[in-house]
Amino acid sequence: MTDRPKLKLEIVTLERQLFTGEVDAVLAPGSEGQLGILPHHAPLIARLGCGELIARQGDSEESFAITGGFVHVAADRVVVLADAAEAACDIDVRRAEEARARAAQFLRQRASRQELIQAEAALRRSLTRLRVARRAPRGGPRMGGAGTAAGS
Ligand code: ATP
Repeated sequence: MTDRPKLKLEIVTLERQLFTGEVDAVLAPGSEGQLGILPHHAPLIARLGCGELIARQGDSEESFAITGGFVHVAADRVVVLADAAEAACDIDVRRAEEARARAAQFLRQRASRQELIQAEAALRRSLTRLRVARRAPRGGPRMGGAGTAAGS
């Protein structure tokens, strides 16, 4: 029996490495829509938007909130360089709730176009974080073995 091909996934920001490990598939929030990446994917560089990244290994999934950046795929290696990123279990839900409330409040005020664009982006970041935080495993083991979530 042959081993199934794997992807080597790295998720990094300029400040830290969040994840490195072997996975079966990656679903990434491309700026133009979701990117599904499997082993033997064609080489690719794509811009990332704000959204959820899912790393799948067997029956397990690990979720990350991603705020912009780039993904590079080549020779079964997937490197995500994110502007900001958090693993589901590291998201501070209260902070995201506060950011959501602040952005929503701002959107109700009279503001310049530029301020509205910024508030919309902040709202999107907070909603993504709240959605991803709901995926955090409650007390259970994290994705089996190969993945290493690196500390902050
Ligand atoms: P806030 O208004 O709460 O600072 P923000 O959307 O402006 O939110 P960012 O500029 O996207 O924050 O991120 C700044 C840093 O804070 C990044 O390192 C990011 O990973 C981290 N961060 C932001 N919000 C959260 C959160 N709710 N939980 C954990 N880390 C967070």
